[in-house]
Amino acid sequence: MLNETPALLSVHNLRVAYGGIEAVKGITLHVHTGELVCLIGSNGAGKTSTLKALAGLVNFSAEKAVYQNQALATLAVHQRLPLGLALVPEGRGVFTRMTVLENLLLGAHWRGHSKAVQREVAEDIEQMWTLFARLAERQHQLAGTLSGGEQQMLAMARALMGKPKLLLLDEPSMGLAPIMVERIFAVIEQVHKQGISVLLVEQNANMALALANRAYVLESGLIALEGPAAVLAQDPRVQQAYLGEQVGLLP
Ligand code: ATP
Repeated sequence: MLNETPALLSVHNLRVAYGGIEAVKGITLHVHTGELVCLIGSNGAGKTSTLKALAGLVNFSAEKAVYQNQALATLAVHQRLPLGLALVPEGRGVFTRMTVLENLLLGAHWRGHSKAVQREVAEDIEQMWTLFARLAERQHQLAGTLSGGEQQMLAMARALMGKPKLLLLDEPSMGLAPIMVERIFAVIEQVHKQGISVLLVEQNANMALALANRAYVLESGLIALEGPAAVLAQDPRVQQAYLGEQVGLLP
């Protein structure tokens, strides 16, 4: 699919290093408005490091790293949410000693507290209860007492309360029972249909490729393959490496 509009997110030759060790060795990727793009790859390939770099949580170098025409390097972490760039981190990161409702309100904190905003936030919370019925039933429960799947839902709902344009999702299905995985993927699909762009990091390559428009396969810090998700899902190398037996793509 040809897309002439400038990408919402565009990075060229992104590198992330921890001490002397390079985890991401120069990757180029982009996400267009309205796209759901997935980043798959085996353990330690550099997927989380890539998302953390985009969210401003680790240092990186790049020839270009631009979100909505703004250089990421010039944006402080707290400036990204108001611009619509939200990360749902691996391991959820909900505030365990706060209730479900309080977590959601925190997600909307940057929007301010005027009467008009309060009305909008109340409406958005109602929407979250519709999207995540399990959370509605548990709105006054402490987040730390939720199940793993419910915490994942809360982390996503909290990010959605910030009105994101691009959602960075780090392994949302990790450690969840199959029924919860199905539910989380259904929500991702719904969120995408509502017009939110998504960059999805997943080890569950099957489900991620089934949902995504495009995909990148990351191996040892490099992009080994990229293309339309439907094409990659049929690629024998991807099938062999990620949809069945684990073998590498790079020499
Ligand atoms: P997984 O699927 O297992 O989460 P990943 O593809 O997300 O893996 P990263 O978490 O980005 O991979 O890790 C890439 C490499 O960077 C790994 O070798 C990891 O050990 C290393 N790494 C990640 N974070 C740090 C850190 N804070 N300090 C040192 N090395 C790190």
